[in-house]
Amino acid sequence: ETVLELRGIAKVYLKGQPGEVRVLDALDLALAPGEVAGLVAPSGAGKSTLLHIAGLLDRADAGQVLISGREATGLPDGERTALRRTEVGFIYQFHHLLPEFTALENVVLPQLAAGVGRATAEARARALLGQVGVAARADHRPAALSGGEQQRVAFCRALANGPRLLLADEPTGNLDPATADQVFHVLMQLVRETGLSALIATHNLEIAGRMDRVLRLENGRLIAG
Ligand code: ADP
Ligand code: ADP
Repeated sequence: ETVLELRGIAKVYLKGQPGEVRVLDALDLALAPGEVAGLVAPSGAGKSTLLHIAGLLDRADAGQVLISGREATGLPDGERTALRRTEVGFIYQFHHLLPEFTALENVVLPQLAAGVGRATAEARARALLGQVGVAARADHRPAALSGGEQQRVAFCRALANGPRLLLADEPTGNLDPATADQVFHVLMQLVRETGLSALIATHNLEIAGRMDRVLRLENGRLIAG
């Protein structure tokens, strides 16, 4: 079984117009349970497009996306959204935490939205914050946290609803090299402890080299490397 499978994915922007760009072209990918793949691509190669299609935030022009073996391509929007909310966690270069809410609430809220009761959601949020070493920061708002702490909280939020697949776009790209190294280590520990499959885009080849395999996005396809 695979957690994420992409079959023959194609994506063209500005189809038939001047400036048409074929970003993804017959792209295939299979991620096994617990497998962590690094995604390396020069800027503009289509990394964000690929992550958005894999995470059901955007639709491909051709091909299929399977999440935990379930074909998502033909599903109506409501069912795609439900599948995304339960199965996929996202992490971005910037934390996108809600500034009005504490670290704890930022991890609680997605659980409440998924129908989890408050006591259970808070207990889970505290456990996650503890796992990434920011338990003492639970009651602070994002602005009071360092950049590394903010990303750690964002990791907890991404994992709050127990997804099987993590999609990360430059998760440490906004941090200084020493902090990026620490925070990446924390992320990998969290992913391994949780048994998640992950596709992690990074420009940092040293970081990519610590994953199970590295994929390069070139000419619309993924190649091992
Ligand atoms: P990356 O994340 O690797 O930098 P993107 O997936 O954001 O690349 O974009 C890939 C290419 O597609 C770029 O050339 C970009 O300009 C183009 N592109 C992205 N989104 C759109 C859009 N909505 N309309 C037109 N072109 C787009
Ligand atoms: P860094 O240099 O790693 O970005 P900072 O200098 O922002 O870290 O902060 C150092 C420590 O002080 C961190 O643990 C951070 O959470 C804490 N801190 C920074 N600003 C505040 C604040 N306004 N309230 C509470 N804690 C803060």
